[in-house]
Amino acid sequence: MPAVVNFAREPLSVELREETIPGINDDEVLLEVQAVAVCGSDLHQYHGKQSWKVNYPVVLGHEFAGRIAQVGKRVQAFREGERVVSETAAVLDSNSPFVRSGSYNLDPNRLGFGYGVNGAMTKFVRVPERCLHRLPDNLSFEKAALTEPCCVAYNAVCVSSHIRPGDSAVVIGPGPIGLLCALMARLSGANPLVVVGVPADAKRLEVAKQIGATLTLDAREDVVAGIKALGDGYGVDVVIDAAGVSATLKLALDLVRPGGRITKVGWGPQPYGFSLDTLVAKGVTLQGSFSHTWPMWRKVISMLASGQIDVDPILNRVAPLTEWQSCFEAMESGEIVKAVLKP
Ligand SMILES: [Zn+2]
Repeated sequence: MPAVVNFAREPLSVELREETIPGINDDEVLLEVQAVAVCGSDLHQYHGKQSWKVNYPVVLGHEFAGRIAQVGKRVQAFREGERVVSETAAVLDSNSPFVRSGSYNLDPNRLGFGYGVNGAMTKFVRVPERCLHRLPDNLSFEKAALTEPCCVAYNAVCVSSHIRPGDSAVVIGPGPIGLLCALMARLSGANPLVVVGVPADAKRLEVAKQIGATLTLDAREDVVAGIKALGDGYGVDVVIDAAGVSATLKLALDLVRPGGRITKVGWGPQPYGFSLDTLVAKGVTLQGSFSHTWPMWRKVISMLASGQIDVDPILNRVAPLTEWQSCFEAMESGEIVKAVLKP
């Protein structure tokens, strides 16, 4: 079966290769992939710029939905033919304190699809039963493939930042995760809701408006002044930093109001090089938000199925697996927000 394989750390070490169909353990299913979304982290790996360890060679793809082709002997809750979506924590130690306490997303030893074990940018992938969630009939595979990034945003915005109606919020970085964070912030009642991007983000900032941003700002201009002009001039209640660089934390600190909160969800392996005194002086709560857990998947799947989460403005291209490279490039250039591949 053809697979999009990341075979080395060197930049651009990704190619379409022939792989064999994997065997499954008793507690796993063999999933026939129907849709797999391209993630910003796939692009990081494409360029060898990720800050996590990759088990090369590995099949990319961790945002996926499909149909169960085969079930292992000890699989109880699922049957062949069922439509499902999968969480990302492919390998977990059931004795880890994080797994036992339900925060398995934070277990440093967990291995995920697409970097730790083979992912879903191919025809078949093996998945532990505990990762699976059944899909409502009215939720397409293409939209269901976006459950994972929606869960990342749901965790960052609705759980970690607990935005309340009327909170002012800024999202820095209108990539797929930033835009989904803006969507969750709108659903949480944030107002005003501002999205900040660079000129290359022009199209994505248009999408930000479609999904409910009340204002978009160009990062090259005086964003601090733009935010001060809103409300009482002290800054916003919540900043979601979804940019792929560390330096934007400085902007976040300048934009947040005293006593406010910053949630960092974007990865940026570069050092930053500025003082954190503003964090102290403003008494800011700064937190990271990573991945997601089971209850968030339940919420997001039902929100996708009911239409409460509308991913149409974000899901800009559906293409066959063979077009992986042009999809990666179109996302990178900001021409499209999100692509879904059909193996
Ligand atoms: Zn992802």
